[in-house]
Amino acid sequence: MAMNVFSTIDNPTWAIELTEDNYIRKTGRDQRYVRQKGAQRKARYALCPKCQGPIMLINYIIPQTETEVLYGKHVQYNVEGLANYSQHAYENCPLKNPLRIDKGKRRAPGSAGARHLLEFIKQHLDIIFSTMEECTGIRFNKTARQHIVRNFAADKAWEYESVSTNNTPYAFLYFSEAIDLYGCRLVTKSKLNQEIRQCIDNSTDFRINIERYSSITRSRNSGKSLRLFFSNHTVSGSEENIKMHIVERDPSQGHDFYTTLLEKKVSFDQAKFINTCGKRSQIQELAAQYL
Ligand SMILES: [Zn+2]
Repeated sequence: MAMNVFSTIDNPTWAIELTEDNYIRKTGRDQRYVRQKGAQRKARYALCPKCQGPIMLINYIIPQTETEVLYGKHVQYNVEGLANYSQHAYENCPLKNPLRIDKGKRRAPGSAGARHLLEFIKQHLDIIFSTMEECTGIRFNKTARQHIVRNFAADKAWEYESVSTNNTPYAFLYFSEAIDLYGCRLVTKSKLNQEIRQCIDNSTDFRINIERYSSITRSRNSGKSLRLFFSNHTVSGSEENIKMHIVERDPSQGHDFYTTLLEKKVSFDQAKFINTCGKRSQIQELAAQYL
C-alpha cells in the first residue's frame, strides 16, 4: 500500500523519491496537486510512476512529536486535472501493494503476470545485477552470478505473487542460497565498503586484496568458506529492506557451524531502478522502431 516514489504531470513515468522537499520542488506547489477536503484539511496528490494513476500523500504535514513517515498510496478515483483512475492499470501496478517476498501464493505458470515478469527479468537482468551490487556492496564474480540466477530459476521465483518488477533485486538475493564470496570483489564506492572490509578483516581465513581490485582472497587455508546469504525482506511504511549476513563457515566444527561476521539491513534506490529500467525499455523501442 505504501509507496516511497511519485511522479509529476510533466514526466509521469519518471520516478522521484518521495520526500517533502522533493515533492515541493517538483510540483512547485501547483494547485493541480492539491484538493480541499473539508474546511480544515487539504489533500495532496501526485502520480504513480508505474501506472500513472493518482496517489495521495499520507502524513504530509507531520507534527514534530510524531514518528510517522511520509508515504504515497494509490486512490481509486479520478483526480480532475491530475490523473485518472483506471482499474486495469491499478490492478496490474507493481507499486500498488508491495509484498514481503516469501514463497507464498504462486501465479498460474502460463499466466500473463508470470510471463510479463519473466520477460522483464530477461530484458533487465544486467540492471538487476548492478542494483544488487549497489545494495550489497559486493561485486559478484561469474560463479556467484551463475549461482544466483540458477537458484532463482530452480524456484521459478517469477511465479510467486510476492515478486514484482520493482522488487526483483531483493527477490534474486532472497531466493539465492548461501553465495560463496571467494573471488568476488568489493564495490569500492559503496557506503557499505568500510563495514564489509572490517568484517572480512575479522575472519580467520580471508582478506581483501587492494592491489587486485579489492577482491576477496584467502590469507590462509584451514578449510573455511566465506559466505553471503539473505533473510527477512521487510516492507513497512515507506521502508523496504532485506537482511544481509556474511559468515565464515567452518566444516571442521560440524556441518552447519559458522561464525557471523556481519548482519545488516540493506536497501537499494528504488527510483533509480525504475528509471534505469524505464530508459532501457524506451531505447529498445526506438531501436525496434527505426533500426
Ligand atoms: Zn501505480
